[in-house]
Amino acid sequence: MNYQEIIDRIEQEVQQETHRGKAANYIPALALQDLGKFGMAVHTIDGQDFVVGRAEESFSIQSIAKVFTLSMAMQQFDELVWKRVGKEPSGTRFNSLVQLEYESGIPRNPFMNAGALVITDMILKNSENLKNDLLSFVRGLSDNQYIAYNEEVARSEKETGYRNVALANFIKSFGNLNNKPEDVLDVYFHQCSLQMSCLDLSRAFIYLANRGFSTFCHKQVLNPRQTKRLNSILLTSGLYDAVGDFAYRVGLPGKSGVGGGIVAIIPGQLAVSAWSPGLNESGNSVLALKALELFTTYTGISVF
Ligand code: GLN
Repeated sequence: MNYQEIIDRIEQEVQQETHRGKAANYIPALALQDLGKFGMAVHTIDGQDFVVGRAEESFSIQSIAKVFTLSMAMQQFDELVWKRVGKEPSGTRFNSLVQLEYESGIPRNPFMNAGALVITDMILKNSENLKNDLLSFVRGLSDNQYIAYNEEVARSEKETGYRNVALANFIKSFGNLNNKPEDVLDVYFHQCSLQMSCLDLSRAFIYLANRGFSTFCHKQVLNPRQTKRLNSILLTSGLYDAVGDFAYRVGLPGKSGVGGGIVAIIPGQLAVSAWSPGLNESGNSVLALKALELFTTYTGISVF
């Protein structure tokens, strides 16, 4: 398959789009991003990279980081993770509080903010410095020592993250956080602020396309069973309340973030990511969605 030709064509097509949505203005540090930016990268399990546009420019990965923290939690706690977090789609926005009240502080899934806060709380237990450990984990997966937190974005979220603060306190009130809300939130805001490029993300996610073994960094990150499960939850919950639309248009397990990135997996073949800062009402990048839709259309490959 000539992936380079395909992604070159996709870039040309998406760049014609006039409707590009809006940058995430509820996080002031992200609001000023240039909506003209677009990048895309493919990494295959046999080690090939294909890039187009700004595929090597790093951006704020935001909720995509929830996949890394969940992977760490599955490594440490395996099935026990599901005692404190559900695995059902929520059908609500990523930062919604409503279900938590009647579901007694057990978030629906690990990919909504509430779920990610509980996952972060879990892995705080086994780490003296979780921010460092998470950074090493992600740098290792991407083999890129330059990956870093963006302190300005983390600060900006901390200053304005009223909903996340509410979520953490609310979950704590149900007894489903062991650590102090402010400690969990500090790691949470930092994980969202991780700066990575499309190329870093495609390389880092390759273990999910290869039964948990990264052919890029040569590590068994999760076992095959855990990998199958994580991918299933990505398919049902990776794009918040727009997961059905993504399944319909793209048909792959994937994860988005309000920085404008989306990563998707084709099991047994590759990881593909796209980035452009303009978001739709669900908080997903308009152009990245379009690019992934065209990718499965032009390649003809899908999990279905
Ligand atoms: N940092 C963002 C928030 O907590 C992450 C949300 C996202 O990417 N969907 O609101």
